[in-house]
Amino acid sequence: MATEKRDYYEVLGVSKTATDKEIKSAFRKLAKQYHPDVNKAPDAAEKFKEAQEAYAVLSDEQKRRQYDQYGHAAFDQMNGGAGFDFSNFDFSDIFGDIFGSGFGFGGRSSRSSNRARRGADQVMRVNLTFDEAVFGCKKNINVSYYDNCSECNGKGGKGEKTCPTCHGSGTVTSEQRTIFGAFMTRTTCSTCGGSGSTFETNCSNCHGTGKILKKSDLEVKIPAGVDTGNQLRMAGKGDKGTNGGPNGDLYLEFYVKDHPLYIRDDNDIYLELPITITDAVLGCKREIPTLYGDVKLTIPAGSSTNDKHRLKGKGIENIHSHSKGDMYVILKVLPPTKLSKEQKKLFEELAKTDLETNSEFKKIKDYLAKSK
Ligand SMILES: [Zn+2]
Ligand SMILES: [Zn+2]
Repeated sequence: MATEKRDYYEVLGVSKTATDKEIKSAFRKLAKQYHPDVNKAPDAAEKFKEAQEAYAVLSDEQKRRQYDQYGHAAFDQMNGGAGFDFSNFDFSDIFGDIFGSGFGFGGRSSRSSNRARRGADQVMRVNLTFDEAVFGCKKNINVSYYDNCSECNGKGGKGEKTCPTCHGSGTVTSEQRTIFGAFMTRTTCSTCGGSGSTFETNCSNCHGTGKILKKSDLEVKIPAGVDTGNQLRMAGKGDKGTNGGPNGDLYLEFYVKDHPLYIRDDNDIYLELPITITDAVLGCKREIPTLYGDVKLTIPAGSSTNDKHRLKGKGIENIHSHSKGDMYVILKVLPPTKLSKEQKKLFEELAKTDLETNSEFKKIKDYLAKSK
């Protein structure tokens, strides 16, 4: 399952009292370092995403206040938070700053590069009821993805010309002086974002990004047995590819709501069943609601709290093997909280008899006797 989410301030490496300026500058530094178009290390994309998410929250006054108050729970739909999809956050001003306007972000291609590029993957949360997850369902999901702007053909502008900064090479070489001496470093050109060309005018339709956010309805068949955190890959349903490149994929990530009675543990189900003292003492038969209809359970005389009854095969179907887990009924003996005069009298009569037949009583008595 997902690892513990890091604190957003820690991610950006700033203090809780950091100013907006400090937050922006910390994020710019990380974004430059980890942008997947620049950094090819295997964990770079993950780090970049983490920084993006932290920045999207902390740069927004209201979201930052929510986060300060509630932590990650503020945006966690599962726990009743507002929910927040940072993939739609507009980073264009900051990436314009860092890489020159039109730099490819999250799969939005460099605007004038003609090479085929795969569209970015998207992740979308899907909330399911307990039953929808257990039995599978069909769902109409409104998905959003980036498509190429039809005005500029995904290029982001009109009147393409050679970048004046890098003269078309897409990279700039600069001398860096350090305590170890000076050396030359080659970095992506910040004017053209590495594409080697710029435009006379930016496309007004897509604001120079070359991409337009689109929404569409997608009918999805969700298999039986999914659980919170499971992902379903919808091939080709992510962002559209550029210049003939393939589309990205869409990952649906499930969040399953709690059931009012059942507690799920993998493919097993637990049900806590309250019974009265007399039912526990005398034994009883009880109707048990299972996923597959009611079942009669015989509870033997002399039952205690935490006694466990297994209903084989009444659990959840495994998403891969289709074999079913089990259901466990856990007894909870509840003494009456209110007694009528008559009931009290009966209990008083009962109390006069010897009820300490269980050997557990003897243990304490023997111990007390010895210590005297
Ligand atoms: Zn456009
Ligand atoms: Zn350039």
